[in-house]
Amino acid sequence: MTNKEYEAKLLALRYPKPDGYGSLSMPIYNSLAFEFETAESMELAFSGAIDDHVYSRVTNPTVQHFEDRVRAITGAYGVTALNSGMAAISNTFFTLAWSGCNIVTSNKLFGNTYSFFVNTLRDFGVETRFVDLKDFAAVELAIDKNTCALFAEIITNPQMEIVDLNKLSEIAHRNKVPFVADTTLIPFSSFTSSQFGIDIDVISSTKYISGGGTSLGGLIIDYGKFDWSYSPKLKTVSDNSFSSFNYKLRKEIHRNIGAYMTPQTAYMQSLGLESMGVRYERQSKTCKQLALMLRELPEVASVGYPGLDTHSDYLISLSQFGDTPGAMLIFDLQSKDKCFEFIKHLKLIRRATNLFDNRSLILHPASTIYVGFSKQQRAEMDVRDTSMRLSVGLEDVDSLIEDIKKALEYL
Ligand SMILES: *Cc1c(COP(=O)(O)O)cnc(C)c1O
Repeated sequence: MTNKEYEAKLLALRYPKPDGYGSLSMPIYNSLAFEFETAESMELAFSGAIDDHVYSRVTNPTVQHFEDRVRAITGAYGVTALNSGMAAISNTFFTLAWSGCNIVTSNKLFGNTYSFFVNTLRDFGVETRFVDLKDFAAVELAIDKNTCALFAEIITNPQMEIVDLNKLSEIAHRNKVPFVADTTLIPFSSFTSSQFGIDIDVISSTKYISGGGTSLGGLIIDYGKFDWSYSPKLKTVSDNSFSSFNYKLRKEIHRNIGAYMTPQTAYMQSLGLESMGVRYERQSKTCKQLALMLRELPEVASVGYPGLDTHSDYLISLSQFGDTPGAMLIFDLQSKDKCFEFIKHLKLIRRATNLFDNRSLILHPASTIYVGFSKQQRAEMDVRDTSMRLSVGLEDVDSLIEDIKKALEYL
């Protein structure tokens, strides 16, 4: 499962134009505009006849190098770096969707993705059809000629549900619909989306890639495998029907929305990429050890981690993500009050949102991320009052176990 050549491939890639000092890492080109020698060369750059940087809302050398690195290790056709995971998701759907179309997905979605679909896109005439993505007949029934995409999160958060990616991509492709997945929860150092028929990844690079919680960012990774001549909207966009999505995104949508990644962020996230494989190995291994430990504690009512053989999606998780599926788990105590008391007494684990920071982070999803949802909505999304979400950092496992056990003594 793990991409053994991840670091070698990433570190071998040089940036295209060396600077005068032979800087080993990509310099930060903190410039908004780029100067040309002649009006003729300016015309060529603006018309797209030559590939050159003009204005940093559109492209920037530092950001492009970050994109090139991601392309080199994922083997993708097009990579676009944006200023947040939500910018990646909104740019993707502004490229795919049209008034009168629909999106087929699950209601177990990241909170802002859910709101983007049911509030923001609805006002532009886009319908979101929620189905149980494990009910393949229901998925098949929900898709019709106006479906712009089948969308799934590879591990839902905080429910930790895992869908069968091969099966969903097969259904999507049989119906001539692209399969778009939010793959934020397993980094591409350990998971190869294209092997499971995913056409487009959207990723919050705020998480594993940034690592130290340094910066917001998002990625759209287009594998160039979908034939867009099947899309009522994109079929006429470009001569090569496999490149139409990327063409529309790069030439129009992302420029008009204006949420391109900044060079400073691209620099920080390039550094994050270099250590991501190693960090993920450690964090996911520690997470599994904590899940096994928590499962044995009498105070803990249940543990949600797909790497446990008691998890209902264990086998599908194993086949898709290996035996340490991610560095996030949920666990339940007897009541909300007990969760709050426990969280209060943690000393090493930090009380904060965000995922896959180098520090371990905890929160109570129902009263934080989902606080704006009604009790009924939370019940439908299986966001329980008794659950906490733990994102496991780089601390050693014994220190984390000690912190958890000491805080439990206060209950
Ligand atoms: C955090 C997250 C997002 C949103 O990313 P931002 O960078 O915060 O905009 C989307 N999807 C998933 C699964 C996430 O965890």
